[in-house]
Amino acid sequence: MICLGIEGTAHTIGIGLVEDINGRCHILSNVIKIYKPKHGGGIHPREAANHHATYVADLIKESIKKADIEYADIDLVAFSKGPGLGPCLRTAATAARALSLSLNKPIMGVNHCVAHLEIGRGTIEKCRDPVLLYVSGANTQVIAFAEGKYRVFGETLDIGIGNCLDKFGRYIGLDFPCGPKIEKLAEKGKQYLELPYSIKGMDIAFSGLLTAAEQYVKHGKKIEDICYSIQETTFAALTEVTERAMAHTEKDEVLLGGGVACNKRLREMVKTMAQERDAHFFVPSHDLCVDNGAMIAWLGLLMYKSGIRMNVENSHIDQRFRTDRVDVSWRD
Ligand code: AMP
Ligand code: MG
Repeated sequence: MICLGIEGTAHTIGIGLVEDINGRCHILSNVIKIYKPKHGGGIHPREAANHHATYVADLIKESIKKADIEYADIDLVAFSKGPGLGPCLRTAATAARALSLSLNKPIMGVNHCVAHLEIGRGTIEKCRDPVLLYVSGANTQVIAFAEGKYRVFGETLDIGIGNCLDKFGRYIGLDFPCGPKIEKLAEKGKQYLELPYSIKGMDIAFSGLLTAAEQYVKHGKKIEDICYSIQETTFAALTEVTERAMAHTEKDEVLLGGGVACNKRLREMVKTMAQERDAHFFVPSHDLCVDNGAMIAWLGLLMYKSGIRMNVENSHIDQRFRTDRVDVSWRD
């Protein structure tokens, strides 16, 4: 069975084609195009949606060509139902509906956060029942499967970690995405500067830290030291919550997902934590870590095979689609 997935929750429009081979995810093609906000700005939802509308048809053609298949080979069309920015979600859903109707193939709206977890399970051999540390621009959640659902064990109380890095980056004049640039600067940092470490129960807050970091800039502290301190503090908090979720659920696998999972220092911290617990550490390849269509396609396939059905009439989007509202009928 072959599924075409359309991702469009925020800045990325992505098309992925995947095939189910003996229950494993085989990626036929996975192409993305990223909207970049104008210098100094954040994502403008309508501009991002216009970007997606401009490129989605070409990306679909490109994905079919790269996969070396015909349109008639597609068995299912999946799209990112949420959570995300309304105009972006609607654009991806509209493309999915048009494709589903014109090919006369079923449609499936999927949860973006769950897709980040399932693509790890589908493509990494030993990854079976992980705790996912999902760190992206807007989302920061620690997710694991428990009693029939993907539960959120901890999450940000204010902004996502990627957003925190991007906001600080913008403050010091960097272009979006700022995470990779902050990572480079942090490598040159030498002195740790105290920053608020806000863990409340299993949840994390970043906005106080962001304000404190901006204060350091005003007071003339070295940018490299500030970047280093931001990374050390936020990543330690994320690792701490992830470790406690692993202890609580008695799981011995940790999976990273989301754009911030590309960060070497975060990987190192989580990997060290996993090793100290005799747990397995997994991180998908870069193109499957960031927002992409293949993960949407794969989750659509899993849902369809487990008997879930949708039609165009009820293929609504849901900007606030919570991870723990998904009925996980494809797992025991
Ligand atoms: P996503 O929303 O999952 O596509 O991820 C985008 C976010 O990942 C943006 O906030 C980027 O700044 C951030 N990001 C990408 N690469 C890195 C990196 N190497 N280190 C830290 N953050 C990163
Ligand atoms: Mg994402």
